[in-house]
This record gives sequence, C-alpha cells and structure tokens, in this order.
Amino acid sequence: MDLIGVDIGGTKVSICLGDSEGNIHASKRVETATLGGPETGLPKLVELIGHLIRDENIEIEDIRGIGLAVPGPVSTKTERILTPPNMPEWVNVPIVQYLREKLGRLVFMDNDANAGALGEWEFGAAKHLDNLVYLTMSTGMGGGIIVDGKILQGATDTGGEVGHYVLDPNGPKCPCGQTGCFEAFCGGASVAHTLQQKVKKNQKSLILKEVEGKIENIDMKSLIAAVKKSDSLALEFWEEYIERLAQGIGVLLQTLNPDAIILGTIATHNKELVMQPLRQALPRYAWKAPLEHCRIEPSALGSDLGKLGALALAIHGLKEQMF
Ligand SMILES: [Zn+2]
Repeated sequence: MDLIGVDIGGTKVSICLGDSEGNIHASKRVETATLGGPETGLPKLVELIGHLIRDENIEIEDIRGIGLAVPGPVSTKTERILTPPNMPEWVNVPIVQYLREKLGRLVFMDNDANAGALGEWEFGAAKHLDNLVYLTMSTGMGGGIIVDGKILQGATDTGGEVGHYVLDPNGPKCPCGQTGCFEAFCGGASVAHTLQQKVKKNQKSLILKEVEGKIENIDMKSLIAAVKKSDSLALEFWEEYIERLAQGIGVLLQTLNPDAIILGTIATHNKELVMQPLRQALPRYAWKAPLEHCRIEPSALGSDLGKLGALALAIHGLKEQMF
C-alpha cells in the first residue's frame, strides 16, 4: 500500500513515499522558508509530491492516502492550520481541502506531536500499546496522547498540549504567555534563554567557554557539554531540569496511567544524562503502580520520526474511514 507522508516542520519540510509497514521508499526535503506563504506554498507542496512519485514511476491514483503533520495549533474539525508561530503567513489555511482537491486523494492532518505519538504507536518501541504519550522534548515541549488507541484531541484540539501546564507560577516566562509552564522549564528554546540569563550573572561558568564567550549562542548542546565537564552551574541547572521533567511526567503518570511515555529529541540525544536521574526522581512525583507499569524510554525512531508520524496519520485516518 503506497502512502505519502508530508512533515512540515519549523525549518524543514520532508515529503516521503512509504507503506503501511513503515518502509520509506523515497523522500525529499526542502527548507520550510522556500514555501513562502500559502499562495505559493500550497502549489509548491503539490509540485513536490508530483516530483516524488514521478521519480518513482508511481501514479497519484496508486496512492491510498496522504498524511500531513503540521505545526500546531490546528483544527482537525475544519481541517485547517490555524496560527503556527514559526509560519506567520499560514493563518487559518485549509490545507487539507486544497491537497484533496488538487491531488484527488484522501488527506489526513494533525499537529506534529500527535503525528509523533501515532508514529511511535505504529512503528516505535511502544508499538500498539494503546495508552501512550509522546513528548517531543525539542525546541518546545509538544505532547501527543493516545488513550485506548485513539488520539486525545479534546473539545478544541488542545488535548495533549501538556507543555503548557504550569509547574510553578514563579518560574520562567513561557513563549505561550503563561509563566512557569512545563515547556518553560524543559523545552530547548526556553532552557537556552534561562541559561543565558544565568551565565550573564556567573561568567566563570564553563558554559561560556563552550560558546567562545558568545552568551547568545548558549543552548542545550553547550549545557550538556558543560554538564559532562562537571561545571557547577551546569550541574545545578541540570539537576533542576531533571526535577522539572520528572514533575511534568508525574502529572501524566497520575492522570493517564499510560502503558508508555516516549521521549523525543533531548532524551534521544542524551540518553544516559536524562534517563538514569529521571528514573531516580520520578518516585517523588507519581505513585508506584502507574510508575512501575509505564515504559518510559527515549524514542527509537530517530530522525525518521517526522516522516513516520506523517505516514502513521495516513494509516490511522484510512483505518478510521473503514469503520
Ligand atoms: Zn506555556
């Protein structure tokens, strides 16, 4: 069964041709910026899909469905991209309808975190565990929740936005406007921002050496490098990072009692630094029964997760159509 996955990220757009087993037969990648606004971007997406299948000698009629992972927020009811922060021109865009009309195929869309959760559910280490949470742990802290085999959308499509529950109202400012969100403590961009402020006040930290004195370049990578060199500011910061991560995950364990919680980028890139201290911290934030039941692991799908998530959206959408 041939499927197309389109993963529109903040910096890159990946388009792939794959199948229901999660095999990716061909893919193309372009910078998101090359799309421009929706007037040029939507036709460009159609063109890219056309090139991809032509190169593989496949007709559009052979494609069963198209999965579309896009930056949130989205409306799955009106099938529109709403107001993506990194694509300011793409406001209220009926992308599903456009692609469906131009390509004559079934198109299924959701936000990237929900797509990631479905990708993990279809192809990942937590395959077909019906109660699963996926945390992006990248620049932000996106969340996708599957309950009893279904994505939790909620009444207004903000189900699963776990990055924005407030862990501490006295915490750092969050890009969403609130203060002390889970994302403000544990998302990569917020970590970089908070750390830059701290290093300004303590210029002896080794973190500054990692970025050759350029405070504005301090990010998750330089933090991790300084943690590995036992820099005291970095170690103290990391301890709080893990504590907040455990606190955020504790809420999920207590609320959802999931079979698995799969962790994205920051955990997959720093398995040892994250997983061992996290496991030690978690008993402070969750009961024994849900904690012991839950598999908490970094994603095993690596850089293919975006594409696999988009394919999983198509698979899931087609299955739902059958019932
Ligand atoms: Zn927030």
